[in-house]
Amino acid sequence: MSEEKRIISRSEHNISRKSIRDEALKVLYRLKKNGFDAYLVGGCVRDLLLHEEPKDFDVVTNAQPEQIRKLFRNSRIVGRRFKIVHVRFGRSFIEVATFRSQSQGSDGHRQVDHAGMVLRDNVFGTLEEDAGRRDFTVNALYYNVHDFSVVEYSSGFEDLNSRQIRMIGDPTERYREDPVRMLRAIRFAAKLGFEIEPQTAEPIRELAPLLQRVPSARLFEEVLKLFLGGHAVACFDALCLFGLYEHLFPLTHYCLRQQDSRDVLSLVRNALRSTDERYASGLPVTPAFLFAVMLWGPMNQIADRHRRSGMTEADAMQTAVSQVLSLQTQRVAIPRRFSSPMQDIWALQPKLKQRRGRKPRRLISHPRFRAAYDFMLLRAESGEELTQLCEWWTQYQTDHAQTEIGHVR
Ligand code: ATP
Ligand code: MG
Repeated sequence: MSEEKRIISRSEHNISRKSIRDEALKVLYRLKKNGFDAYLVGGCVRDLLLHEEPKDFDVVTNAQPEQIRKLFRNSRIVGRRFKIVHVRFGRSFIEVATFRSQSQGSDGHRQVDHAGMVLRDNVFGTLEEDAGRRDFTVNALYYNVHDFSVVEYSSGFEDLNSRQIRMIGDPTERYREDPVRMLRAIRFAAKLGFEIEPQTAEPIRELAPLLQRVPSARLFEEVLKLFLGGHAVACFDALCLFGLYEHLFPLTHYCLRQQDSRDVLSLVRNALRSTDERYASGLPVTPAFLFAVMLWGPMNQIADRHRRSGMTEADAMQTAVSQVLSLQTQRVAIPRRFSSPMQDIWALQPKLKQRRGRKPRRLISHPRFRAAYDFMLLRAESGEELTQLCEWWTQYQTDHAQTEIGHVR
């Protein structure tokens, strides 16, 4: 699907070259000097128009990867399915891609599977074709280095001003091609404070089960963007509303639907709120903590069942942990470097009850103590009877810190 090209001239928009990173400008100018078209595209143009600082600057051009590669000494071609070029500047790099079109199979049709999901999408194209294969109109705005205008083929500029997330083309078809676009719609709406335009929102509920077809590793990446990007509470609420959450965290969803799920819901929401606050103040946020929060309810429920059937405390929890992990990772992968600290946070919870003898001293020096303590505070805040224990540990840390200072002196 393509619509008419529209050029928003330099005087009609607010993007100033001063707000574009020097490295990105260098890349654009060199491409231009060598006779190629060169544009900034995607999130950076959207964010510049919204007066936000872009995370990264993406460049598109009609130059092919080998041609781009020759223009920049510190560049390399990356990507198996679709080749793009990374131009390196110190520790950061600018991503330069050649215009792409929706690829056509030998019969002249795009290669899709029986559910309409795109299998191949790696053919060079024109600017217009490149615009047509992007997801939302506000993500398909191009900043042209030749005349500093902004170019669009769908209503991106207008949608940006009326704060709408609108799918390019037929929403149902585009979600079928790539179900992750449903999550992206939620994420951009939450992040930008935009509305999802009604026709773009309408099919999501019904198509939500298509998420089951998305590889778990890709969903892991998306889950991090949804919940560790500073707008976790808004994303969580929207994901639940659109029936998407249950396909990401089916066990947690099941827990939340039961009676007496108040504590589970409180823990999730309080933790996400605190994650958003940490993000806003520049503090680190970790996937291990996020998954510990999301899966705590289901893990406990299963552990309870095992306890009732006569397992020892330790066995009940250990068995529940492996069961929850094995079920959850069928949907959303959790790399071991995160699932293992997640398990530490959980394993420390019962241990934090032991306040006698040398145990507290040993616990406090555990590398995961601080995360486990924060986790316990959230549990207390969410209704579990732990207030006294939390106060004890808070005091213990203050005293301990004082002793340490005493030693230094
Ligand atoms: P962010 O600020 O989160 O990085 P972004 O818009 O830059 O937002 P990216 O995931 O970095 O998002 O993708 C860059 C651009 O590539 C998007 O703006 C969009 O035009 C296009 N794009 C990315 N993913 C898809 C997708 N699944 N379907 C269609 N277009 C996509
Ligand atoms: Mg981006």
